[in-house]
Amino acid sequence: MAKRPLHPRSLAAQAMGKIDPLTKGVVTPIHIATTYIRDEDNAYSSGFVYGRPDNETVREAESVLAMLEEAKAGALLFGSGMAAATAVFQALSPGDHVVASKVMYWALRSWLLTEATRWGLKIEFVETDDLAALKAAVKPGVTKLVWAETPSNPLWTITDIAAAAEIAHAAGAKLAVDSTCASPVHTRPLTLGADIVMHAATKVLNGHSDVVAGALCAREDDAFWNRVKTVRKMQGGILGPFEAYLLMRGMRTLHVRQERQTASAMALAQKLSAHPLVARVLYPGLPQHPGHDIAARQMQHGFGYMLSIQVTGGERAAVKAAAHVELYKRATSLGGVESLIEHRASIEGPGSPCPVDLLRLSTGIEDVEDLYNDLDQALKAGHA
Ligand SMILES: *Cc1c(COP(=O)(O)O)cnc(C)c1O
Repeated sequence: MAKRPLHPRSLAAQAMGKIDPLTKGVVTPIHIATTYIRDEDNAYSSGFVYGRPDNETVREAESVLAMLEEAKAGALLFGSGMAAATAVFQALSPGDHVVASKVMYWALRSWLLTEATRWGLKIEFVETDDLAALKAAVKPGVTKLVWAETPSNPLWTITDIAAAAEIAHAAGAKLAVDSTCASPVHTRPLTLGADIVMHAATKVLNGHSDVVAGALCAREDDAFWNRVKTVRKMQGGILGPFEAYLLMRGMRTLHVRQERQTASAMALAQKLSAHPLVARVLYPGLPQHPGHDIAARQMQHGFGYMLSIQVTGGERAAVKAAAHVELYKRATSLGGVESLIEHRASIEGPGSPCPVDLLRLSTGIEDVEDLYNDLDQALKAGHA
């Protein structure tokens, strides 16, 4: 690679510039071996012992993500976002106190309330965008982890990562950030003081709705990170080499996808704010969003690809509008090149902080005018 320091987009576009040593191919091969030859003295001078922890394709994808997140201690890929997230909690000890965002990815919240509690973790949910509430919940010497999702699903509240890190560290706790909906193009939480970043790589990192994967990145190679590594290695929540290859291929175009998706999300948020059948647009890029000022500080190159709308006419109009989309795909998940729409309250069920009149929009790379026109006709059909 060039001698000058390169922009992350250049490094990502070439997957760190790696060339296949045998053929000089500009794309490296997918490594599929599950076991490796030992040296004559039984050592493993290659550094590769067995397929569960050791796979070169997985490591190459990890090196791209570690670069993007400026993760000094590196990145670890997992078989899903949930496998990555739960590994952080499983690296804690029974009795440890955890403070987590009240508004967060629904399946993780549900796992924390059921499985994590069974394993003896004490979980407390607070609005992590409310720093006074966060400070009051964190117990010095007792709280071991603060888990914040920002922007948080599906209201897109913004947690001040630098301030949350200060509060966590003052109490002797780590800060982990689920940055799935920001992506490293917009926010690099480790540079703001977070200790661990988690991604559902299934979403915008891969970007094509064809891989389930998760990732963790860390700032310091300390005892806690080594616990996380052990959890992955021993419990086996690894990513396969084919998925790692697809993820790496996806990350090569992350910057261009994010630019298009984010610009379109902003344009949609602005236009929908003036739509007579939209009561409220939730998007951190809008000046009236409660987290806008913090988002403007901790997000670069725009405010992400996710927004939600609350429709006039309540739950019935929202469900009906989603039923009438033609270009948007009515499906769960987010971050792909195709735009998705979802009525979240009906999937999250009772106890969800999600309003019943809310539709979540994941913005793809289609023509933004086509996207707006599709929503416009669907909203009108929802009111007919
Ligand atoms: C999808 C998602 C997850 C879980 O990831 P999976 O790959 O589906 O297990 C976690 N956090 C957020 C914010 C997500 O959107």
